[in-house]
Amino acid sequence: MREIRTTCAYCGVGCGIKAEVTGREVAIKGDETHPANLGKLCSKGTHLGETVGLEGRLLYPEAGGKRVTWDKAIDRVAKRFADTIARYGPDSVAFYVSGQLLTEDYYVANKLMKGFIGTGNIDTNSRLCMSSAVAGHIRGFGEDVVPATYADFDEADLIVLVGSNTAWCHPIVYQRIMAARASRGTKLVVVDPRRTETCEEADLHLPLRPGSDVALMNGLLAYCRDKGLLDEGYLEDCVTTPDGFWEKLGEGSDLWSTAAACDLPPADLLAFYELFAANPRTITLFSQGINQSVRGTDQVNAILNVHLATGRIGKPGAAPFSITGQPNAMGGREVGGLASTLAAHMDFAPENVETVRRFWAAPRMASKPGLKAVDLFRQVREGRVKALWIMATNPAVSLPDAGLVREALAACPFVVVSDCIADTDTGRFAHVKLPAAGWGEKDGTVTNSERLISRQRALFPLAGEARPDWWIITQVAQAMGWTEAFAYDRPADIYREHARLSTYQNGGKRLFDIGHHAVISNPAYDAMTPFRWGGEGDKAPFANGRFSTPDGKARLVAVEQMAIEAPLAKFPMTLNTGRYRDQWHTMTRTGLSPKLSQHRREPLVEIHPADAVALEIQADDLVQVSTPAGDSVFRALLSEGQRRGEVFTPIHWTDRQSTGGRTGRLPRPLVDPVSGQPGFKSTPARLEKLAPEWRGFVIARDIPDEIPAAYATKVRVAAGWLVEVAGDGDPAVLAKAVLPKGERIETIDQARGGMRVAVLEDGQLIAALFVTRSGRTPSREWLIEQLSAAGMASSIELLAGRPATPQADRGPIVCVCFDVGMKTIVEAIATQQLVSVDAVGKALSAGTNCGSCRPAIQRLIGETKEAAHA
Ligand code: SF4
Repeated sequence: MREIRTTCAYCGVGCGIKAEVTGREVAIKGDETHPANLGKLCSKGTHLGETVGLEGRLLYPEAGGKRVTWDKAIDRVAKRFADTIARYGPDSVAFYVSGQLLTEDYYVANKLMKGFIGTGNIDTNSRLCMSSAVAGHIRGFGEDVVPATYADFDEADLIVLVGSNTAWCHPIVYQRIMAARASRGTKLVVVDPRRTETCEEADLHLPLRPGSDVALMNGLLAYCRDKGLLDEGYLEDCVTTPDGFWEKLGEGSDLWSTAAACDLPPADLLAFYELFAANPRTITLFSQGINQSVRGTDQVNAILNVHLATGRIGKPGAAPFSITGQPNAMGGREVGGLASTLAAHMDFAPENVETVRRFWAAPRMASKPGLKAVDLFRQVREGRVKALWIMATNPAVSLPDAGLVREALAACPFVVVSDCIADTDTGRFAHVKLPAAGWGEKDGTVTNSERLISRQRALFPLAGEARPDWWIITQVAQAMGWTEAFAYDRPADIYREHARLSTYQNGGKRLFDIGHHAVISNPAYDAMTPFRWGGEGDKAPFANGRFSTPDGKARLVAVEQMAIEAPLAKFPMTLNTGRYRDQWHTMTRTGLSPKLSQHRREPLVEIHPADAVALEIQADDLVQVSTPAGDSVFRALLSEGQRRGEVFTPIHWTDRQSTGGRTGRLPRPLVDPVSGQPGFKSTPARLEKLAPEWRGFVIARDIPDEIPAAYATKVRVAAGWLVEVAGDGDPAVLAKAVLPKGERIETIDQARGGMRVAVLEDGQLIAALFVTRSGRTPSREWLIEQLSAAGMASSIELLAGRPATPQADRGPIVCVCFDVGMKTIVEAIATQQLVSVDAVGKALSAGTNCGSCRPAIQRLIGETKEAAHA
């Protein structure tokens, strides 16, 4: 057994992991020495070990659907890119990369495209996640710098979470916030149209109208001015205020107008303002609810304006804090992996282009920004981009209007996909597939949301013929003729060059400067412990009041609340999209974990109960969600947490797992005019209840790719799969297609039009299908257990879907670490009169390991108490 310290594969919190590796197995623990998490891990990080197997991996290069050697694959990619550039110019090719790449991978991809191919056409899926934060930082600070760290939560008196379901999307940060509340009574305000589990502990929840964040922040700024809370000295010395800024702000920013614009009770708004006024140590943490908007950059600057004008920046416990979604979105920003940035936090100003050209000895420097993600795929579809290399991402699922993206990929003359997964929705369009190293095989560095650079270390040897992304990119670059410029032997070589570029002719112009690592030795790189860039010594960035602008001053940016799109007659509702607690992106990795799949087994559309009544929708009905871009089918979940007229769907399900739940088909390809980030959070939508003739589920050790049912969504369970199905016609067609050969027992329920089939092998259940036209289907849990149970259930039990001796129904799993269900928790709360999450933990262990379910337990305590008093 070897112990290796590395970092988590998932979110921008960037937790440190202690991996105990035995062969291809790994036991995952939190690294107590890592500053980001101090030993804690959330449910996703805790269960990483379940996702490192070789199932589904792409293990050798393929061209035209056939296995080829690496030499052939590299040669083919290099030739097609070189030929396309020769015939149509550099702008006819593009890379679309990912926040999953390590910084060293990102660096060489950016260098190849911007310095040698000679176009800015490299963009990243981070465009979808935080490019508005990047653009806002550059407008306000002159550089893309996050001026906060997690330690600031320990010193803040007020934390404002804006557009962030922190409890689900950044659980370890949420736990740190909860710890600060417990130890020093930090106040918490959550600004989010939805009442999520993040609101459970909040002092105040502001469920504002989607897209009204500029009005909210401008109203707060106007209140601060009126109450004399501005830091006049700081504004004078450290901030440039545009002419007419305050006059413009005054228009419509009074309390009543702001409350009307945000659709909030004036008293709640005032309560927020007063909390802000009373607590100068304020952290405003914002995430996708702010960024993923067609006004994202303005929304970011509205937040930065408030912090700059009140001097709440560069001090302990006081800063705006953009938190990223992906593990290395920040590393990508540092190398310039966005089409709109050049390298090492430089933009495309002529002097920067010249600096980078000189440093790289670049033969053909890009002199202007390239195509941002949505425009890039538009140009692919229109035939202007003719060769596209997609690395470690799945745009056929994740980009808005995924139908058009698929058309673009189908029309593109040459598509290369490098990925560790063999079969992705995007990979199906590839002419060449290149097997990339998986998380457990990669070696390099990542940067988390708080500017902390950590080592990611390989746990296992490379699988099959998989290779690290940096190696693949540099091999292609060398095959294109740039042998010397891409002659790296190891990630440390690339890292040293990246560090040198960060300091080259910098002279204090940019805070991103890791020049002290320009000559780091290979052993020192291998042994590197996490370190943070930015700020002098232990001080926060901008602590000295100097910013990365030519005059050293930050800038207030005049931003106005734009009119919010009125509901359309055909699409009267508004769709919001986001993540589930235990899933990650398109589930290529988390989908492998049966534990993680327990939390949500289907893609659900969350609807306010009053809207559901109006639409004659009941809980668990199948509902078609339609938007101007497309439609997909979801299971209905009625939720008081939704605002009236607004619905929510998760982003994770793809064509690989599902015929329904395809949120990627729904958002329109509308983007923020400054950042190019798509608006995923408010799409006009219509809901219609579907009435399939039958519905039910299949449980099986193996399941075919094609499932002949109008609705089919599959997830991993222990020892197999669970597929929820619904459809029309004869369900026997489904049974024939999905059930394996074996000893078959079945029953037909003529009265309710149902069918129950169990398939056995050596007396052991290997598959079961339960469908009904009008009756109920049994709980899935006991049948799932039978796939791997040691004993044999009787035929009667199997066809009943439950044991002869009734078992307690645990309900949906809340705590995945200890398999504790909702009904078990509610019963314990009620019968044992438990009033705190810790008390529930003592009674049931729930919430005592990773802690991701603690907000859910808190909610159940509240609901149970309410029910008891009803
Ligand atoms: Fe990984 Fe969870 Fe930490 Fe994010 S919060 S880095 S998913 S362990």
